[in-house]
Amino acid sequence: MVTRLGRFVGAVLTVALAACSPHPAGTAADPEIGRGIGDPYFPTDGNVGYDVEHYDLQLSYQPGDDDLDGTATIRLAATQRLTGFSFDFGLDASSVTVDGRPATFSKKDAKLVVTPPEPLAERQRATVAVRYHGTPSEVRVNGEKIWKTNRDGAVSVSEPHYATAWFPCNDHPLDKATYDVAVTVPDGTQALSNGLFLGSSPADGGRTRWSWRGTHPQASYLAFLAIGHYEIDNGTTPEGRPIIIAYDRRLSSEVRAAAQASVSRTHEVVTWASSLFGPYPFEAEGAVVAADEEEDAEEFQTRPVYLGGEFATGPDMNVVVHENAHQWFGDTVSPHGWRDIWLNEGFATYAEWMWSEHTGQATARDLAAKAYRAHSADDDYWLLAPGDPGADRLLDRPVYTRGAMTLQALRDAVGDDAFFTILRTWVSEHRYANGTTEQFVELAERVSGKSLKALFQAWLFTKERPAVSS
Ligand SMILES: [Zn+2]
Repeated sequence: MVTRLGRFVGAVLTVALAACSPHPAGTAADPEIGRGIGDPYFPTDGNVGYDVEHYDLQLSYQPGDDDLDGTATIRLAATQRLTGFSFDFGLDASSVTVDGRPATFSKKDAKLVVTPPEPLAERQRATVAVRYHGTPSEVRVNGEKIWKTNRDGAVSVSEPHYATAWFPCNDHPLDKATYDVAVTVPDGTQALSNGLFLGSSPADGGRTRWSWRGTHPQASYLAFLAIGHYEIDNGTTPEGRPIIIAYDRRLSSEVRAAAQASVSRTHEVVTWASSLFGPYPFEAEGAVVAADEEEDAEEFQTRPVYLGGEFATGPDMNVVVHENAHQWFGDTVSPHGWRDIWLNEGFATYAEWMWSEHTGQATARDLAAKAYRAHSADDDYWLLAPGDPGADRLLDRPVYTRGAMTLQALRDAVGDDAFFTILRTWVSEHRYANGTTEQFVELAERVSGKSLKALFQAWLFTKERPAVSS
């Protein structure tokens, strides 16, 4: 994600406070049910007791009315004996079955609590089907609307925990799964999502079903929907991967041209990033440019979504580099907990600096020095420790730029060979999974043979400006 200052501040703070509620969703019989997955920043996020393997989302959407009808078929494996379990969900379910048999269910705060007809044994697989209907734009997470509607359709917003506006899920990056997403919309409307495009086919009532498949493990915050009137460029990379780039037809010709000048270079960026970080980890590439005046973008897996405001003043390669760098840092290697967010944003920002160097502009080192000089020692900027920013400042600027300065400090300390070996090894050791800051520090020491704890302590965890030697 490209941060916009303060965008999530209010919402995130309220989530943290809500977690102190004395009324968890658990039942008297089993207080574990409805308990969060254990993220200290968002204690109610996610769920315990199972691992989702696959989401099959069959959706029908009516633009204008913002009317969503869905069946989520969730294949999961119990990780402990379960008399019940929960999903994070903002809409209301109308029926739930477990392995085809009706289950009882209730809604408690933002949890859908399910009691299967028979308890699940540890390691038992089950298929849970949730039918639901609702208006995603009415879903609020702590007062914030988390689903963007427009005249022609809608665009989902998901980070850090907003996927619940459109499907029931285990909404934490620790539980990754594969996805099938099919969306039926009126003829002439397009529905875009992650991964491979399986095709569009006629449906009843003058409607068309658009089908997508994500074949690699994906965190729920990286799933997306974009529905509207899109012009879609379908291509194939020299490596044989589909590359799908979609432009909202409502974009002005100027913004459309600036967006195209930027996102049409996606494969060039991916090829360059592959040379630095290792092979591209996913089955498809692409971009969606939605007509929205807001300046924002989100690194959805295989296909970032850019809001038109990103290109209102002309082409912007930084955002394309940033969101595609997230395919390695954030998407294939996801944060273990939200405290580890600098592993996403610091790295994606550093990739922007490396792109500058690659294209013959300022070097990453110069840009790091410039960012350092931009904040005097008494600037509040340095009070934010990117290694533990707090839930209420998760996506604040220092997480990005001080996080990137941390990587430059590491590069200066270990040299280029070790630095790029660290980055590539990080991706290969944690791909399709998660990583913690502590694991990154351990890897950097292992690869370089140097003691680096003091460096990371100063750059990531100390609430003051680190000293630099030059
Ligand atoms: Zn980002």
